[in-house]
Amino acid sequence: MTLPGSEPVGGPVGGPVGRAVGGPVRGVVTGPVTGRRPVRPPRHLAELTEAERVEAVVALGEKGFRARQLAVHYFEHLVGIGPEGEGAEGMTDLPAASRTRLAAALLPVLLTGVRELTCDAGQTVKTVWRLHDGALVESVLMRYPDRVTVCASSQAGCGMGCPFCATGQAGLTRNLSAAEIIEQVMAAARVQAGVGGPRVGNVVFMGMGEPLANYRPLLVAVRALTSPSPAGLGLSARGLTVSTVGLVPAMDRLAGEGLPLTLALSLHAPDDDLRDELVPVNTRWPVREVLDAARRYAGSTGRRVSIEYALIRDVNDHPWRARALAGELNRRGRGWVHVNPIPLNPTPGSRWTASNPDVESEFVTILREAGIPTTIRDTRGREIDGACGQLAAGGTDRPQALAQSRP
Ligand code: SF4
Repeated sequence: MTLPGSEPVGGPVGGPVGRAVGGPVRGVVTGPVTGRRPVRPPRHLAELTEAERVEAVVALGEKGFRARQLAVHYFEHLVGIGPEGEGAEGMTDLPAASRTRLAAALLPVLLTGVRELTCDAGQTVKTVWRLHDGALVESVLMRYPDRVTVCASSQAGCGMGCPFCATGQAGLTRNLSAAEIIEQVMAAARVQAGVGGPRVGNVVFMGMGEPLANYRPLLVAVRALTSPSPAGLGLSARGLTVSTVGLVPAMDRLAGEGLPLTLALSLHAPDDDLRDELVPVNTRWPVREVLDAARRYAGSTGRRVSIEYALIRDVNDHPWRARALAGELNRRGRGWVHVNPIPLNPTPGSRWTASNPDVESEFVTILREAGIPTTIRDTRGREIDGACGQLAAGGTDRPQALAQSRP
């Protein structure tokens, strides 16, 4: 799914524990489509288990406890290593002779800043990153009065092909490694530490890509971000939101992971006729199946599911569709779901545009009167193509000077 203005509003719900139905995601593109054989991103400490970290350090001829020291530097002290090993000298509890070597082997540079754009008076910062193979991804740091949120990408590009989405137009380049996902969050954490700002507390996997189409690395990243330091960054799992267009087997698998993550389902239409067009994977898992899976997720995890609904003028914003949506949700019970209508963000050259404000407000009123908690999502980052449906990474890997506009 593509990007938020703010994270969706989820929360605990009651209800029975559903059955988790694991299984592979079928019928969707999950691998690179470039025609080149992908070169794996370098191994990084962030994606290794604690045992694997020790093993890696020992294989480098160091004592096993150095693994923990490195992890403390990475996750607690937020040490970032530059291309020439810059930053390693600060790890003074490691022998001087070992610092650069350990950093090069286990904290390699995974993301190189290509562009940085800010808006909302500096409170929203989008960064375009170049990966080791030249693929581009984007992440967005959003500062709110009460929280700091990072929107992270899970894939370079996206294979889901939603026609109103800038990312979807370019297709999938490749899946990100777990460490490439984690590093987007760590980079934002370093920025916040650098300006003495509040810590990053929320992560929404709503950047480029369909997170559940890159399931295993996503889960490794989630576990690293939520494990207590020094195993990980120590975020609360309740502060993490995973979005999906509705890959039903993967939704069920996620429900069985025992993690209180918020699930955000990008529905965009309550009827298959239209959703087949707006979200092509709907032809594989139609509305009924996707909403059933969302309901099971709420039952299994106790977390209220967010339904994301981009309001597109004269396409999906009709009052009868609001009533149909309310009917579909209420039929599956009360209190398990929250709807976030999102005014569609314009993408260059697109025929899709946002609903009129009065139409938007009628849509919301119908849902609320039907008893569905509904909140219009604030769209952060519209001016910098950092809002929902606008992430496309600009198509170049030529480095440019980063904007000097941080607050
Ligand atoms: S193409 Fe669809 S699934 Fe992929 S990023 Fe865009 S909206 Fe999300």
